[in-house]
Amino acid sequence: MNEKIADLLFPNIDKTPEYYEKMYPKRNLAADAMVTRYGPSPTGSVHLGNLFSAFCDMIYARQSKGVFFLRIEDTDQKRAVEGGIENITSVLKGFSINPNEGYSIGGDYGPYKQSERTEIYQTYVKDLIRRNLAYPCFMTEEEIKEIKEEQAILKVKIGLYGHYATDRDLSYDEIKEKLDNGEEYVICLKSPGNPENIIEVKDCIKGKLKFPEHNIDTIILKKDGTPTYHLAHVIDDHLMHTTHVIRGDEWVSSLPLHIQLFEILGFTPPKYAHIAPITIKDSETGTIRKLSKRKDPWAGAKFYEESGIPIAALHLYLATIANTNFEEWYLKNQDKSIEDFEFTFEKQAIGGTSFDEAKLINICKTYFSRKKATEIYAETLNYALKFDPDYAQILKENKELMIEFLNIEKDGPRPRKDIAKYSDVKEEFSYAIDSLFKQENYSKLESDKDYDLSLLEKYIEIYNINDSKDEWFDRVKKFSLAEGYSDNVKEYKNNPDKYKGHVGDVCEAIRVMVTGRTKSPDLYEILRILGKDKIKERLELFRNYLN
Ligand code: GLU
Repeated sequence: MNEKIADLLFPNIDKTPEYYEKMYPKRNLAADAMVTRYGPSPTGSVHLGNLFSAFCDMIYARQSKGVFFLRIEDTDQKRAVEGGIENITSVLKGFSINPNEGYSIGGDYGPYKQSERTEIYQTYVKDLIRRNLAYPCFMTEEEIKEIKEEQAILKVKIGLYGHYATDRDLSYDEIKEKLDNGEEYVICLKSPGNPENIIEVKDCIKGKLKFPEHNIDTIILKKDGTPTYHLAHVIDDHLMHTTHVIRGDEWVSSLPLHIQLFEILGFTPPKYAHIAPITIKDSETGTIRKLSKRKDPWAGAKFYEESGIPIAALHLYLATIANTNFEEWYLKNQDKSIEDFEFTFEKQAIGGTSFDEAKLINICKTYFSRKKATEIYAETLNYALKFDPDYAQILKENKELMIEFLNIEKDGPRPRKDIAKYSDVKEEFSYAIDSLFKQENYSKLESDKDYDLSLLEKYIEIYNINDSKDEWFDRVKKFSLAEGYSDNVKEYKNNPDKYKGHVGDVCEAIRVMVTGRTKSPDLYEILRILGKDKIKERLELFRNYLN
């Protein structure tokens, strides 16, 4: 009879599971090679947690010389958003998280988009019906809702099981009649589980987990014949020979169902590694919560791209989240790359990892501090071409000049750490480019000191572009003394009434005049690169601003 029901429900499915088993043979890989996959659903923009799990997929596959593939899990068409798939592929590309095969790349185990695999899922479901492990359920949504409400009142397990699963054993004739009446149906698993039995699953990160056996007749095919995530991922991970499913731990509670599906389909389950969410301390309530795209700008992957976080720095940050011992290793091995570190699931945080903006920024600043000026220039230009074309044009027109500025204090043992993102360059070096330096630059000054314009006028007269750095400073000191400022800070502090200020105050006034800021890289270098004429122009701007 089951054979007849299967043919009645799936008259057009003429393939068998064996057909697909042959079509997707075992991969030719070493025994310990991991096959991982990133399986995003195009239901919204990619967030940091997604990026992190894809990063883990990539590093584990790469270090075991395995395969990392991308599979688009678009079974929930109702929740799909426009541009969702493009967002996924562009974010992955933007952050150099490069799958070896999969959607938009190709490979022998495709199609890699679940909506193109409906026939495969239906083939396996038809077989489950044949084997009396699945059935059509004609209950209306209203009826199911009522059951769930009753179960909630009775405080019993929610779902279709036992006497609640009224369509479990419909006969061929009953099914035929309902079909003839045009009744809609879903296909449910005929769960063979008994919740009295306890199953044990060893999660690679969380360790041994115990659950009661799954006994709910979960929906596996929806009314439109497309699968639910549960069924689709089980069949795909089997046919695509995934060895490790690395995914968010919101799926842990579905493990008993997934294990049961693997079993009844006759598949060996992959290893599971459930990763904890990235958390943050809520600034209003002080409680720890999941990073939220709505509340936290750092939660959305696009934010990293748009603000210009360097890819390598983000990878380093993700590596610190991935393995608790990475950071210590990296501090001792700064000349090495992420690839040299051996990532292990044992060192992956079991609980939530908190997002640490300061740490990320620090990693970024270190990244920039180690880059040559020419590299920073080229990467910033690349960034600007995409996100700030006007600035890109300016950068192109002022290449040599910009590189000279970016090169200030690059050679010393402690190179400057002022840039964290490509978008910072425009602001940090706002004084570098004449056409960008406007009177308004002074309005961002945090100091409300009165700067002495006549002092600055006089300074420009004695400024000599040919001075060495020492000569320059000697000249500033002499100038300070002549103008009533101490040439020595200590001396000024001991006798504050004798002076108008000290040489540091004179330098600050000069710095503010030329950069619009109280802090900047080496003033001597800035003055030298700008040259006397531009310094004079800045004085005029400053004068206009003060007046
Ligand atoms: N499509 C699932 C999601 O986006 C992925 C879960 C998995 O990786 O298996 O949540």
